[in-house]
Amino acid sequence: MRAMLLKKIGSPLFLSEEPIPTPLSGQVRIKVEACAICRTDLHILDGELPTPALPLIMGHQIVGIIDSPSKRFQKGALVGVPWLGKTCGVCPFCKQTQENLCNDPQFTGYTMNGGFAEYTCAYEEFVFPLQGDPIQIAPLLCSGMLGYRSLKMAGDAKKIGFYGFGAAAHLLIQIANYHQQQIYAFTRKGDHEGQGQAKKLGAVWAGSSEEPPPDLLDAAIIFAPVGPLVPLALKAVRKGGSVICAGIHMSDIPSFPYEILWGERILRSVANLTRQDGEEFLSLAPKIPLKTQVTTYPLEKVNEALRDLKEGKISGSAVIVI
Ligand SMILES: [Zn+2]
Ligand SMILES: [Zn+2]
Repeated sequence: MRAMLLKKIGSPLFLSEEPIPTPLSGQVRIKVEACAICRTDLHILDGELPTPALPLIMGHQIVGIIDSPSKRFQKGALVGVPWLGKTCGVCPFCKQTQENLCNDPQFTGYTMNGGFAEYTCAYEEFVFPLQGDPIQIAPLLCSGMLGYRSLKMAGDAKKIGFYGFGAAAHLLIQIANYHQQQIYAFTRKGDHEGQGQAKKLGAVWAGSSEEPPPDLLDAAIIFAPVGPLVPLALKAVRKGGSVICAGIHMSDIPSFPYEILWGERILRSVANLTRQDGEEFLSLAPKIPLKTQVTTYPLEKVNEALRDLKEGKISGSAVIVI
């Protein structure tokens, strides 16, 4: 099969002819149809996440077709493989419905091979049954699901700031609007195109992340991996409000005066996802109905797609079509 391999941190992925993988016990083999790109892929590539399983096939928003006998699925069924590849099932977190914090987890396209290839294997208990167009639904599997968990952390907030208006924000604003929450979109300074898009998608206000919003916010979600946004977001949030860091990696947070956290403001991160988040999100998506905006690339152009994502050239999500 053809696969794009990461052999060395920081170097481009390499088109390689690899054997079709054989499922381990508990796994199914999936013929990959589409795999969306996520900012986490950039963090792995740049060595910002420790010890990936090299040589590695990245990609953790996989939509494909079951290709081997399976307990849960019929051959030919359409399924999705998310970031959470496997959990231990026995640690205190797994036992308390916090499997996203598992002490011994596996992650798709990081500690095990992912979807930038013609075939992949996944643990079937962590695979979701899907319906629809593989290219359109691929971005739901990480940007959508992890974003959904971040939005849940904002609770019943009515006014929510989104810092960074990429793939996750494009999806979440639709859910927020469905729940009659108001979105304030913060982009890079001078990104008038991004601000215009956010407004088109229903943001009540859009501006630069350095600007204070016209109203104090109930919550803010930071999608951009930029630590200096944390004090800015804390200043934009009312007493008792929350600032939620949604990314797996962030640059250092600069020191800030205690008074911007004071007043029972909450600062927290969101880590990974549980299977329950995924199921809730997938049942909500068709009710809205959630629309994805995708730019497609063939498998051998993954490097180009990653570069476009890094340079902020992609509006919505980049999807590799196999
Ligand atoms: Zn991701
Ligand atoms: Zn565990």
